[in-house]
Amino acid sequence: MSESQQAEVVVVGGGIIGLAVAWRAQSSGMQVTVLDRDATGRATSHVAAGMLAPVAEVEYGEAGRRVLALGLRSAETWPSFAAELEAAAEQPVGLRRTGTLLLARDEDDARELERQLAFRSSLGLRVERLRPSAARQREPALAPTLRLALEAPDDHSVDPRLVLDALRAACVSAGVVLREHAPVARIEVDGDAGVNAVTLAGGERLAASRVVLAAGPWSSQIDGLPSAARVPVRPVKGQILRLRDPAGPGLLGTVVRYDGGYIVPRGDGRYVLGATVEEQGFAAPPTVGGVYELLRDAGELVPGISELEIEELSVGFRPGTPDNAPVIGAGGVPGLVWATGHHRNGVLLAPLTAEMIVQVLGESPRTDGAVAQLEHVAAQDTFAALLSACSPARFAGGADRPHGESPSTPVGALR
Ligand SMILES: Cc1cc2nc3c(=O)[nH]c(=O)nc-3n(C[C@H](O)[C@H](O)[C@H](O)COP(=O)(O)OP(=O)(O)OC[C@H]3O[C@@H](n4cnc5c(N)ncnc54)[C@H](O)[C@@H]3O)c2cc1C
Repeated sequence: MSESQQAEVVVVGGGIIGLAVAWRAQSSGMQVTVLDRDATGRATSHVAAGMLAPVAEVEYGEAGRRVLALGLRSAETWPSFAAELEAAAEQPVGLRRTGTLLLARDEDDARELERQLAFRSSLGLRVERLRPSAARQREPALAPTLRLALEAPDDHSVDPRLVLDALRAACVSAGVVLREHAPVARIEVDGDAGVNAVTLAGGERLAASRVVLAAGPWSSQIDGLPSAARVPVRPVKGQILRLRDPAGPGLLGTVVRYDGGYIVPRGDGRYVLGATVEEQGFAAPPTVGGVYELLRDAGELVPGISELEIEELSVGFRPGTPDNAPVIGAGGVPGLVWATGHHRNGVLLAPLTAEMIVQVLGESPRTDGAVAQLEHVAAQDTFAALLSACSPARFAGGADRPHGESPSTPVGALR
């Protein structure tokens, strides 16, 4: 086993979460090393559509409220985060402030949208009912059969691939050490003293007193943690298409969502059409049934998509926890910090997650577990409730390994 240099903070995983954390932590004065088993930014985050949609995404139940609180806060942060990132990286991130339309194609969908409207209004969220004619005035490509639309004017979008490129550039220029093709096999824990190193698959040992675990859907596959400190993260498969209009931009300007999917315009004639939600483990191949349903549902509401070219079909795995809320904060063993389980909202939640993790790392270099950490933070800052909502302690001792070993996230380009 070889021993290489010591890092102050090691981030395991260079997706949108790990890179955002690394950039912000390094910028706040820490020495950060990111380890990714592949190239950074090529897994789940590379596949994501990029909706920043806390209002459209809100789900019933207590965990849904927690995710909403995080999402609203992060959505507020996105414009300044994007501006800072663009300045640091000297490249755009494709933030488009278009709002989102939620669409009903028949009476059943319309009844459901009315329920969704009442639910969102009861939470004080800004959503407006649009008559089909008004919606079609906004977006003439919508089918004449449209029954009802809701407008969520504050739900926007970003291009995750541009964000990942920019984060990589910003990390490098801030001095983050990015090590690609460096798979972490184990997090080394020295009893009560906590984390003291990570060991790579090739045997190299990297001493580190603080490790941020941001390995997306693979976060519970890394060895070394005592079972009481593990967090269960499962893969939730999504199939998604990237389309291009040979006639250029203009078919749709706004993000549209409907039962069964969504279309996210990039503004330059390219569209992302997603996505299936499947509990299939790490089943990598896209399926005829999945793609058929995506195209059928989209075509009913935006018939013009049949003219578009298919640029890419990809599969990604959302990192889901048992309550589908993320795990952000210190937990389990001293020196271990979780930043994972962002499920459908990792792009949306990246700026806030980075801010929260930097706060956790900065407030207390080594803590003796989530409770101590939360109490410490609660005493001083406004993140207390958010951190508490994301605490890994809620899963203490309940980790299961996801079924099967994973391939790297497949991206099957059709053309
Ligand atoms: C089809 C689809 C559409 C989506 N659309 C949206 C959307 O519109 N808006 C939104 O907010 N979210 C969306 N999401 C969710 C979002 O993509 C995820 O929540 C987010 O990408 C998770 O980021 P991450 O950095 O945690 O994971 P990842 O991007 O998967 O990054 C994890 C990294 O860890 C690395 N890694 C894994 N194991 C190891 C190891 N042992 N050692 C070292 N490195 C390792 C991987 O190589 C990878 O680079 C979507 C997801 C899917 C699948």
